[in-house]
Amino acid sequence: MKDLERILRDAKRIGITGHIRPDGDCVGSNVALYEYLMANYNQDGSKTIDMYLEAVPEAFKFLEGVDKVQYDYPEAESYDVFFALDCGSLDRLGEAQKYAKDAKMVINIDHHISNTGFADKTIILPEASSTCEVLYGLFDVECITTWAAVALYLGIVHDTGVFKHSNTSEKTMCIAGKLISLGAQPSKIIDETFYQKTFTQNQILGRCLMESILVLDGKIIIGSISKKEQEFYQIVPSDLDGIIDQLRVTKGVEVAIFLREDGVQEYKVSMRSNGIVDVSKIAVFFGGGGHIKAAGCSMKGTYYDVINNLTVGIEHQLKKSYEKVNN
Ligand code: AMP
Ligand code: MN
Ligand code: MN
Repeated sequence: MKDLERILRDAKRIGITGHIRPDGDCVGSNVALYEYLMANYNQDGSKTIDMYLEAVPEAFKFLEGVDKVQYDYPEAESYDVFFALDCGSLDRLGEAQKYAKDAKMVINIDHHISNTGFADKTIILPEASSTCEVLYGLFDVECITTWAAVALYLGIVHDTGVFKHSNTSEKTMCIAGKLISLGAQPSKIIDETFYQKTFTQNQILGRCLMESILVLDGKIIIGSISKKEQEFYQIVPSDLDGIIDQLRVTKGVEVAIFLREDGVQEYKVSMRSNGIVDVSKIAVFFGGGGHIKAAGCSMKGTYYDVINNLTVGIEHQLKKSYEKVNN
């Protein structure tokens, strides 16, 4: 935060946003930055600090500061500094793109390897577990309030799948430890925001697992939820979070694919790799992005078109890696 110090002191109007369909890291980083700026840069209330997000999942609503999220996006807001958090490309800002385009300075804080570098100032650490971990590194630890610590902890928990994904480093754990000493309560945050499922969420998870299929000698697992099923269970997109993680831990699987039907011949694709395949390459090829082991994109075509297109790329990478081993 040291080199941002002057920028923040001078800025009168500050905006904060994250990516569309916000997840734990996105909500956590937004709320943490909002709390941090309010506590340390706006004691006299002379600044306007606005935070915009799409619908925040219910489980995150206990966070102090989350009630300041604005869900409507009024016109004609021109910011001195506009923060884009946990977002690797301009289009993923959704409606908030208009503020980014009008702002005097856009600062992008992120950890996506596929980041397109769309901002005036980009702080991206692809090796960081989460945007919350990047933010922690920018903050003055002495100035982190309890609620900012809770929000940062929540983001780290979610993007690391509760400290189990390979993006979890020694540094991640040290930061998490510090956040606990600042007041974050691990079991409450982990149980109530990550593991706890509504009855409907469990039903849809069970259904998806039951109907999942294995292809390529069991190296790829594919699960999907149709539009009809989404309507039947009256689910919101965040109800489907976690399904992909369960698919990924299937023994023998290298890549898990989860397809959510969004419209006629339109799918939101999530991919997770167990190490050999770089799924961000495949997602970027189809116009999306993400990380080496977790990536996503949107695709058009029938269910079989989508699967075929994805599996060709995965098979290609797997073959190349086996050739390397055998040579
Ligand atoms: P998901 O499968 O939606 O949980 O996303 C996995 C990772 O890929 C996250 O870090 C997302 O930010 C990223 N991602 C997912 N969908 C897209 C997309 N359409 N464009 C760019 N990045 C994406
Ligand atoms: Mn995210
Ligand atoms: Mn993230």
